[in-house]
Amino acid sequence: MEKSGDIIAKVINKKTFKRPQKEDEEIQSLEQNSKSPQSQLSTCPICGGRGIVLQNDTAVPCSCMEQKRIENSFKYARLSKELKTYSFAKFNLEYYQDPTAPEHYINAQKALKAAMDFTENVQNNPYEVGLLFSGPVGSGKTFLAASIANALLAKEFKVLFLIVPDLLDELRASISGRNETNELDLLDVARTIPILILDDLGAHNYTEWSRNRIYSILNYRMNEQLPTIITTNLDFDEIEQHLGERTCSRLLQMCRVFRLTAPQDIRRQIYMRREKIK
Ligand SMILES: [Zn+2]
Repeated sequence: MEKSGDIIAKVINKKTFKRPQKEDEEIQSLEQNSKSPQSQLSTCPICGGRGIVLQNDTAVPCSCMEQKRIENSFKYARLSKELKTYSFAKFNLEYYQDPTAPEHYINAQKALKAAMDFTENVQNNPYEVGLLFSGPVGSGKTFLAASIANALLAKEFKVLFLIVPDLLDELRASISGRNETNELDLLDVARTIPILILDDLGAHNYTEWSRNRIYSILNYRMNEQLPTIITTNLDFDEIEQHLGERTCSRLLQMCRVFRLTAPQDIRRQIYMRREKIK
């Protein structure tokens, strides 16, 4: 690789690989910089932020109020302003094009279709089988998961979007008394919410205790057939290694598995386009 490319690679690596769980937010901010400087509105599309809607001439609370209550029980559950702008329409298959390796594009197409089908089907069947997107950093996993969340929130579904390392932090805080919400409440919401999204189920420092919490959430949801969407950069051997055999086996029962890969980190591709490098 030429010299300027090396420098860029270093900048990108330094800038974006520090906190992998935020990867897609960073993709999005690069993308926004490269397109329009106007950030999108993050207010509720149903009530426009008023919190009430009219039903037969009567004002009733909008579904976003209940959603806010759910999110308030988790400090980090709210979809960030940036994640809220993700949608299937903005999922750009061009990033997966590589004439020498067509599998990237084919896999991405399959994953996108699965995400859209899930979103459609779960509206008729609340027990629709969930999805697991696996793939390396910058391959668009979180983008698809957040697009599902946004599409279903717009249809007034109750959705909880949790970034796994944040969830683990929060559960730890709740038992050490640093957090007002208690652990059982948090677990209860994660177990029973109609749609749970666990983003970045990765190679974190799991303790026996945190492994058991993840297991208990997934086991409950499997038994109640509640759909769960998962993103991970681990393969199944690694999931088993980090989370144990019983969790790994449940994931296979609960989710259809899709692999996302891009010829090059999408964040890097967006950077190159924006800076007009080759
Ligand atoms: Zn609303």
